[in-house]
Formats: sequence, structure tokens, C-alpha cells
Amino acid sequence: MLSYKKDFFSALAQTSPEPLLLEITGASGITLTDNNGKKYSDLISGIAVSNLGHGNKAITDAIKKQADKFTHLMVYGEYIQAPQALFAKKITALLPRSLNSVYFVNSGSEAVEGALKLAKRFTGRTQILSFKNAYHGSTHGALSVMGDETLKSPYRPLLPGITLSEINDETALKDINADTACVIIEPVQGEGGTRTASPAFLSALRKKCSTAGALLIFDEIQTGFGRTGRLFAFEHAGVTPDILLLGKALGGGMPLGAFIAGRKVMECLAANPPLGHITTFGGHPVSCAAALAALNELLKKKLTPKAKAKEKLFRRLLKHKSIVEIRGKGLMLAIQFENEQFCKKVIAVCLQNGIIVDWFLFCPSAMRLAPPLIINEKEIRQVCRKLIRAMDEVSQA
Ligand code: PMP
Repeated sequence: MLSYKKDFFSALAQTSPEPLLLEITGASGITLTDNNGKKYSDLISGIAVSNLGHGNKAITDAIKKQADKFTHLMVYGEYIQAPQALFAKKITALLPRSLNSVYFVNSGSEAVEGALKLAKRFTGRTQILSFKNAYHGSTHGALSVMGDETLKSPYRPLLPGITLSEINDETALKDINADTACVIIEPVQGEGGTRTASPAFLSALRKKCSTAGALLIFDEIQTGFGRTGRLFAFEHAGVTPDILLLGKALGGGMPLGAFIAGRKVMECLAANPPLGHITTFGGHPVSCAAALAALNELLKKKLTPKAKAKEKLFRRLLKHKSIVEIRGKGLMLAIQFENEQFCKKVIAVCLQNGIIVDWFLFCPSAMRLAPPLIINEKEIRQVCRKLIRAMDEVSQA
């Protein structure tokens, strides 16, 4: 068995004292294979990325075809590159008409950075409202609007003028005023443990932002592209943001992010002074080609509406005395346990038994289920049996 473990530890920067250390050599559908030939069912999709599963042929063909034509040519926004133009046209056709201008970047965090800058520039204001337990990324701007002090405080000073409120608490509305540039919210908080902002709350935010002249930003980096049972989670509430943020599943497994706004708002990055936001690799042609293929596959296989029925099956099969609650929407679920230790043990047993699950940054007592949307009924039944067995094993230990 060939292993790169030594190089991983000696040459690569580490992010935690306890990396998972799976050494994956192949991936197909919902299955990952390690360097010992052991198979794992992937129930987290590289954290809500691989919606079409691994090794989707339409996506890999699109990547190869584009790589043969050209890869990087020029910084974003200068040359006309067919994969970018075609993909932007395709997404805007699926969005409300008010969201008709796409700015491509490389990642979720960069989409957040672009959106915060855009809101400041468009409104001429600097105050920002975000929410406790929100995760928007790890760069300075994104960190500033994060709703958790532990990860933030070592990096202060961060952006000034940030107010943190509770989701679904309408007292937040009083903090939106004539100084507010924007409100940034995840319609379903990912790292907070899949906590859903209610339609009434999102609607109240929409009204208050409109009257105060503040921009409403929805971070759909984790919820986007069918995961919650709608193509975009804002469709559940019928509330349209001024800026929509996409990432993760957007690129079909390739790095791609986007902030999307109305043309009039977006125009302010292009003048007085121009080049208000610049990226070398944003909207990389190979990523955009993969993204277009992934979106076409998602629509062709009707995976978005099917996510709802798959959620129901998971909820029906996952019955165990150790489960306090199952939260979330579609295939973005949190299995809430009594405490963090129990959760960690279940995750470890699952891993031994060939099931990849995970916890949440700001909710370590809950287990994350975010499988590829292609997971089928037979696979759901198999993995649920293994999940229940792991809970039994940890309960009896
Ligand atoms: N927003 C949300 C809701 C996320 O879940 C994440 C990533 N977990 C990000 C932003 C940041 O994305 P990236 O890691 O691609 O920078």
C-alpha cells in the first residue's frame, strides 16, 4: 500500500491536531476507496460539494474538453470566455429577474468578501448585521461577520461596525437603520448545526432592509444547488435577496464561487474607480465548464425535488433513543445527540465501519448528514442501518 502520510505531516500545513487521515485513491458515486482498498460511503460530500457524487462522467468529460481547448487566459472580466458566459446565462435564467449579474470568484469566502465590498460601495455605508453561529468563511471580512468568538478573537482587530443578532428573533430588526450597508444571513445555518431561518423572519428582514436602504445578502454557499429540496433555499421562503452568494457545489467539484446581484448594484464595482474587485482565477474556464455540466446533470436527473423524499426516508429510518432531534432541510441534516462526546464516538465508529459523517463547527454535539444528492433508496437504507448500529454500539459501551 502506497502512502503519503509522511509527506502529509512533514510538508503540508496542518489545520488541526486530529486530521481524519483517510488516504483516498479513488471515488465513484457515493463511494470513496482508500489506499488499503477499504470502501467508505460518503455522507458529507466534501462538505456539501459533491452533489452529483464522485466521478460523474458528464462533469469529467466537460473538464477534459475545456482543458484541451484552453485553461487560464487572463484575469476575470477582460476576455470573453465561453464557459463563463454560458454558465452565467444558465444560472441567471434560473434566478429571479432582479438577480441578473454574476461575478465569479474562486471560493465561498471570496464571494462573501466581494459581496460585503459591493454592499459598502453601493450604499456608501459601513455597518453590517450578521448572526450568531453564522459561518461565512475564514478570510478577514468573512471572519468579521462570523457568529462565533472562539475562531474570531485571535485575529482582532477585524472589520468595525459589525452587529451580531439571533436568527428568528425580530429584535434584530431594530439594528437595521440608515447606517446599515447590509444584512448577511444563511437561510439555513450550516456550521451552526442546520438551523433554519423561518420564512417569517426572512420576510421581515427583507421588508426592513428595503425600507432602510440596506442590502440583504443570502449566503447560499452550503444550501445552494438543490441541497435543501429547492434549487436555492430562499425559494422555500419566497424572499429574494439583493445579493446571492454561491460556492461549494457550484463548481461541480471544481473551485468556483459567485456573488450575484442586480446589474445596477453590480455596476458600481466597474466605475469611479473601476476595478472595484479583482481576481486572477475567478471564473476559471475549466471550473465554469464543470459547473455548467453539473447544473445540467442536476436538472436532468431531477435531483432537487427528489432531495425532499430522500430526507423523509432518512428521518423515517433514523429512529434511536440517543437522537434528541433531527434538524435541517432536504439532504442537509443534523442528528442532534445529548452531548459532544457521544457524537464524536458515533462518528469514529461510523468511520471504522466505512461511513463518513462529520460534526459541525459551532454545534459539535450534532452529526452532519450531507450526502451526494444522487444517493439512492437502497444506499440510504444501507447507510441508515450502519448509522443505527453505530449509535447502538456507543450507547452500550
Ligand atoms: N459560507 C458558508 C455558509 C459556508 O458553509 C462556507 C464553507 N463552509 C463558506 C461560506 C466559505 O466557503 P469557502 O470554504 O469555499 O471559502
